[in-house]
Order: sequence, then structure tokens, then C-alpha cells
Amino acid sequence: MKPKVGFYELTGCAGDMLNMLNCEDQLLSLFDVVEVKSFAMASSAHDEDTELDIAFVEGSVSTEENLHLLKRVREKSKILVAVGHCAIFGGVQISENNWEERLKKVYGDVNFIHTRPIPHEPLGMFVRVDAVIPGCPINKHQFLSAAGKLLLGTMPELYSFAVCAECKWKENECLLMKGKICLGPITRGGCGAICPTHNIPCIGCFGPVEEENVSSEYKLLLEKGYSPEELRNRMKIFGGKVREVK
Ligand code: SF4
Ligand code: SF4
Repeated sequence: MKPKVGFYELTGCAGDMLNMLNCEDQLLSLFDVVEVKSFAMASSAHDEDTELDIAFVEGSVSTEENLHLLKRVREKSKILVAVGHCAIFGGVQISENNWEERLKKVYGDVNFIHTRPIPHEPLGMFVRVDAVIPGCPINKHQFLSAAGKLLLGTMPELYSFAVCAECKWKENECLLMKGKICLGPITRGGCGAICPTHNIPCIGCFGPVEEENVSSEYKLLLEKGYSPEELRNRMKIFGGKVREVK
């Protein structure tokens, strides 16, 4: 009996699903050893009733329909994996609190018929999440590694160190020393410090590292001459509600 797997999209840009599809050759091997019951981006087959061994869910909960789908998927899945920043932390859409104001600005007084919007939240606000694959978007190696472990009966683990550790292993010159706002010290590692390695400051898409010291990073950048507004704007991109900087 092959493990039954489903892939679900809530509200987001679908970049994580796209990167799973980008696995190309490996995806065919993966599909050989699992039974895919739902994968909106790759298959027209939607089996909504069968119990699942693993459900991969991307996107934030931003509509009543999202919430309904998430609860149904949770009920029928042994393992639910939150994929990408929107699913784990709420994504960039959670970075501002004036949700209703922004909705009105874009849609005016539209009467939503198909589904009604609700304040954006990550999956963990509503259901138990068993594992996460961080990033915005995730990359295919992360997905293959997590899927491989789950199929072998172990849970994917997160790195406990910050992006700076990987950056140092690559012997990069620190961008903070070049006067750039880099959030590597407070961001969870695992991406291989890909941005600073290309001279681009980290903006924190892997989410906060354990025991992050936001106030120290904030003070350090203030001392370097950045305004509180610049720092707040940078930190809130992937900061989620819990990391709002006062
Ligand atoms: S460039 Fe960024 S990630 Fe690299 S060491 Fe400096 S602060 Fe850390
Ligand atoms: S360096 Fe930072 S922004 Fe870039 S991929 Fe890694 S965590 Fe994301």
C-alpha cells in the first residue's frame, strides 16, 4: 500500500507548489512511491474523502473557504505539513494590522459571494501543525528532503542556528559591515545564506531563529544610522504578528 498524499493551496502566491513541481525528475520517482490524492497545480484528480498519510499545505488562512478546507484536511490527515512562510507565519499579508482598510482600498464595497475574507492567519492558529518547511518560497531540495524523511517515518528538523552561521561558513564579508540592513542574525538558517552570498541582505524569509534577539539587532542597526521606520519596515516583511517591533 502506497502512502496517500495531498497538496493543498490556501492564500498565497503558489510559489511553494511551483517549486515542488520544479522537482521534475525526482517528482516522478516520488509519485512512483506515493498515491497523490489531490494536487491542484498538477492534477485534475481531487479525492476529497480518502484519509491521507501526509498533507502538504501552503498559504495563509485568509478566507472562510480556506479555513473550511484546512479543517477538513486536518481531520483526514495523519501528518499535516505547513509549507512556506504564509502557512507557517502568515506571510507578508500579515505584516500590517489594518486588514479591513486595505481590503476596502483594493476591492471597494464589493459584496463577496463565493467566499468571505477573514483576517490573515497562519495554519497553526486553527489546527495542529506537525512539521514545517520554511522559506518564501521554499526550494525544491527542502521539499525533497522533508518528503523523503516523512516517507521513511521520521520528521524533518529545522536548523537551530541563524543565517549568519551559514554565511560565515561561506566566508562572506558581513553586509552589516558594509552598512546594509541584514536580518541574518535573527533569521533561522537552512537556506545556505543564499542572499548574502550574492551580496543581497537577508530579509528574513525563513522566519525567526530560536532565541532571536530582535532588540539587539534593532539597536545595532539604529547605531548604524538607520531610522526606526526603515528598520520596522524591513523587519515586518516576514516578521509576522508576533515579531512586530515597538
Ligand atoms: S551578511 Fe548578514 S547573514 Fe551574513 S554574517 Fe552579516 S549579518 Fe549575518
Ligand atoms: S538569506 Fe534570508 S531572505 Fe535570503 S533565502 Fe535565506 S532566509 Fe530568506
